[in-house]
Amino acid sequence: MTRPSHVVVDLDSLRSNYRLARRIHGGRSLAVIKGDAYGHGALACANALAPEADGFAVAFLDEARALREGGIANPILVLEGAFNDAELAIANALDLWLVVHHDEQIDMLARGRIAPRRLNVWLKIDSGMHRAGFDCADAGRAYERLLSTGKVRSITLMTHFARADTLRSTMTAEQIERFDAATRHLPGDRSLCNSAGLLWWPKARRDWARAGLMLYGIPPEGNELPQLQPAMTFNSRVVAVRSLRPGEPIGYNATYVAQRSMRVGLVCVGYADGYPQTAPSGTPIAVDGRRTSLVGRVSMDMLSVDLTDLPDAGLGSEVELWGRTIRVAEVAAACGRIPYELVCHVRRAPVTYRGLEATTENKSLARIDLQYSAG
Ligand SMILES: *Cc1c(COP(=O)(O)O)cnc(C)c1O
Repeated sequence: MTRPSHVVVDLDSLRSNYRLARRIHGGRSLAVIKGDAYGHGALACANALAPEADGFAVAFLDEARALREGGIANPILVLEGAFNDAELAIANALDLWLVVHHDEQIDMLARGRIAPRRLNVWLKIDSGMHRAGFDCADAGRAYERLLSTGKVRSITLMTHFARADTLRSTMTAEQIERFDAATRHLPGDRSLCNSAGLLWWPKARRDWARAGLMLYGIPPEGNELPQLQPAMTFNSRVVAVRSLRPGEPIGYNATYVAQRSMRVGLVCVGYADGYPQTAPSGTPIAVDGRRTSLVGRVSMDMLSVDLTDLPDAGLGSEVELWGRTIRVAEVAAACGRIPYELVCHVRRAPVTYRGLEATTENKSLARIDLQYSAG
């Protein structure tokens, strides 16, 4: 048998989650597929969504270029904007939409060789996250400067939430108020919501959503959303079974010691496949559809799973690291990480696509090849 570990991405789930995002938010939604679609394969996901997506969002130019080269014709917003004049020229040639979040990017537009009234720009206003974007007090000035370049066709006003995934904080309500006050007199579409914003903050729903995490069937922290379908399943099989006597340790550093007689299954998935090395004993894993747990430390290529209470499980049993039985958010919570990071880090294990339009069999074909070349 070949190494039985693999990742399955269900493109029907992706599409269904996208439709849900758009239905809840109303209006239009970008499908955020930066970071190789959060580890799901950007081009495969883009192809699956292209017939209906209002547009895509990626982090930087080369992610957008790979989509264009893969035949994606939908609008693509570049969330970090252009880093230099050469990138701006390429973005213009590829008909990309650009976020502008600091003054130097407006200078680039002003001096760039770009046809009049050509670019669709998203002007990013910092409403309280204090990471990227113009201060609220500068919103009007930045807007005027952008217009005065003569290069823009449209300006969409955007902001980003720092903690929309919790309803316990007043921060999101304050961000919405600040953004609205800062942009009150400025014309143009608005875009405030990431996944958590569009799900939990109805007041933030405007012309455009920017749905990322929920596309992949992962609900933002702390809330369940039964309609969401996990897009990624990380599977393997038990390839060996052993018994432990009470007092016997297992794995590197002997971090786990059997307290009773145990049956333990060996699974060929490790941190080189993207399974988190910090996952402690007790992290949930499903075997033959039943919940059990990790025992001992995660190695580079292997981990062990407790079969003691699953007498029917054994050699060849199906293992789900995460998917429909074990949600990736549970695994992330068990190891003090966020689900974004876990799905982004999946690698080495082959990826197959499922779903009506799964045109690409293997992620090595679908995976975008990043070559940071411009400038
Ligand atoms: C990544 C990102 C999103 C998507 O956020 P999710 O929490 O994954 O939905 C939206 N907007 C911006 C600016 C982003 O960088």
